[in-house]
Amino acid sequence: MADSNYSILFEPLKIGPVTARNRFFQVPHCNGMGHLRPQADAATRAIKAEGGWAVVCNQETEIHPSSDLTPFPEGRLWDERDIPALRLMTESVHKHGALAAIELAHNGNHAGNLSTRSTSFAPTDMAIDLLVPKQARAMDKSDIRNLRQWHRAAALRAKEAGFDIIYVYAGHHMALAQHFLLPKINDRMDEYGGSLENRARLIRELIEDTKEAVGDSCAVAFRFAVDEMEGIDGMQAAEEGRAVVEMLAELPDLWDVNVSDWSNDSATTRFAPNEGYQTPYIDFVRQVTSKPVVAVGRFTSPDLMASMVKNGIIDFIGSARPSIADPFLPEKIRTGRIDEIRECIGCNICVASDNMAMPIRCTQNPTMGEEWRRGWHPEKIAPKGAENDALVIGAGPAGLECAMQLAKRGYEVTLAEASDETGGRVRLESQLLGLGAWKRVVDHRLYDLNQRANVQLFTQSPLALPDVLELGIGNVFIATGAKWRRDGVGRSARQPIPISDAMTILTTDDIMAGKNPTDGPVLIYDDDQIYLAGVLAEHLSEAGYNVVFTTPASMVSPWTENTLEQAKIQKVLLERGVALRLGHKLTQVCSESAELSCIYTGQTQRQACATVVLVTERHRQSRLYDDLRRHQAAHPDSLRNLSLIGDAAAPGLIADAVYSGHLAARDFEKEAKLIEEDLFRREIISLKG
Ligand code: ADP
Ligand code: SF4
Repeated sequence: MADSNYSILFEPLKIGPVTARNRFFQVPHCNGMGHLRPQADAATRAIKAEGGWAVVCNQETEIHPSSDLTPFPEGRLWDERDIPALRLMTESVHKHGALAAIELAHNGNHAGNLSTRSTSFAPTDMAIDLLVPKQARAMDKSDIRNLRQWHRAAALRAKEAGFDIIYVYAGHHMALAQHFLLPKINDRMDEYGGSLENRARLIRELIEDTKEAVGDSCAVAFRFAVDEMEGIDGMQAAEEGRAVVEMLAELPDLWDVNVSDWSNDSATTRFAPNEGYQTPYIDFVRQVTSKPVVAVGRFTSPDLMASMVKNGIIDFIGSARPSIADPFLPEKIRTGRIDEIRECIGCNICVASDNMAMPIRCTQNPTMGEEWRRGWHPEKIAPKGAENDALVIGAGPAGLECAMQLAKRGYEVTLAEASDETGGRVRLESQLLGLGAWKRVVDHRLYDLNQRANVQLFTQSPLALPDVLELGIGNVFIATGAKWRRDGVGRSARQPIPISDAMTILTTDDIMAGKNPTDGPVLIYDDDQIYLAGVLAEHLSEAGYNVVFTTPASMVSPWTENTLEQAKIQKVLLERGVALRLGHKLTQVCSESAELSCIYTGQTQRQACATVVLVTERHRQSRLYDDLRRHQAAHPDSLRNLSLIGDAAAPGLIADAVYSGHLAARDFEKEAKLIEEDLFRREIISLKG
């Protein structure tokens, strides 16, 4: 039963002409599906509605070919031919009693128009906000009139598609309406430039146009970034941000407020550890307007949510990432199952998917993005078939997820872990500076496993071939993980690097196991180029070491551009005094120095150091699997199922390990033919034209 402290979260509230059934509001978020994968998009959004969200939004939706976000598959509503695909979403959301919202967007100079080759627009002549060799054109009065017309027409199409709430968007530095507002972008001399009132004119007109067009039956929401998080160099919540809210206070039916840019709005736990991190910027809004207010802040704690509403800070709990990690978050609160909430860890793997223009994935929720393609449901899994028991070896993210899902299916599960504690790489990585929240991946699964009578969990149990045979369990899942290499082999060196025995060499595993570098400078060599080397640099710098960071890449941790963290990471390292040797590969490790070679000229230099930390590639720990395979080949009846999962199968992200464990549990006892059919379910492009 629901805790009465949270009943305020389940009170309905009117938004203009429509009523939300409770206070859980999935704000617009991209999911890499959009106009390219409308069936998948509809299924993903439907799961949120089923999980109890009162409002489910789609993602930014291009209103016109001059706002073409190719290659990113966002929403698209250029003309009436786009209506049926969007209607799939509204119908699937309505089926579960939620309101459907659409974020109409003209992205101005943030749209490269790579497919349409249209002119890009901006308040002022300026470069396109992507590395595209073209400029956007300052809009003249007829362009502005056209824009208003396009927006109005898109709102009418959105209504026809069945949306209940229609957004005007001015956030993330990605929307033309916001570009007009910012004096550093808008230097116009006409009635759309200069004073704040003039710079806000376009926003006012777009909201008024939308209300006039569809406001009889649809609510009009305004998404507004109140603070650019640039101090006096940008718009600040205490000054012009507030003035905009005061000026337009009663105009929209709902205020959806946040901070800009996207990296600040979707900040990771590494850089914004606290839930509600946006509250200090948005807490004035509710005092200025009588209209309902929604805001985000990676909310997963029902106590904090209830207090935010009770204290009149916001009316709706806005959520993108927590709704991705657990689409059933509202329902779990409503039914008093707080401990079952799969809390977002703030890692931004979901964001990275969008930045790589691929369907969304989530570290915590492996079913995210697979609702249509594989028919996966985050809370449901098919019961077991004819088999009764399963042995999972290794309790890292892959083993924990696999064991949990097998247990849910009803098998008698034995989970064996070699070390003292469960969690594998997640437990180890979460001990590094800034990654503490990642431990939730373990906590969620361990809690679930501990509730189940059909699970036996053994730590301090390193299993070898004879142990597995002795146990006599015929269905074995090997999740023995991977270990970081100590020979320098990585992206830039396919052969081991010459390394002197006199130098202290540490791997990521050594540091996570608590081994300390030798006194003196520490050279971190990052030929992995994902995220860990940057974390280690910060971690060791915090521990007082003098760190030199070397990588063949031209920036620190380049992959983290996808998680919106790269600039923040490089800034932190520079501020800490970490010396950066970018564009260099490690060619040799001597007794007291390392030899670095410029990747362009081949020119070498020596870097004095007392320790070299190698972050390059990983070795799969598949020996047990190989032994079992050989045994199985010789004794075909000995094992009925043998699966290799997680990093032992293919080292990757934690999200990949969780997914691999989940997939193996789902596919266990499934016909091979069905497995193949699932894998290849895809949305085929229509040839109709
Ligand atoms: P993944 O990311 O694939 O889950 P991890 O490296 O995080 O991989 O976890 C692998 C886990 O498997 C570690 O906790 C490790 O201690 C455990 N392990 C490795 N080999 C064995 C073994 N032979 N028996 C039991 N546990 C093992
Ligand atoms: Fe949260 Fe990470 Fe999942 Fe995104 S991928 S929803 S940040 S757990």
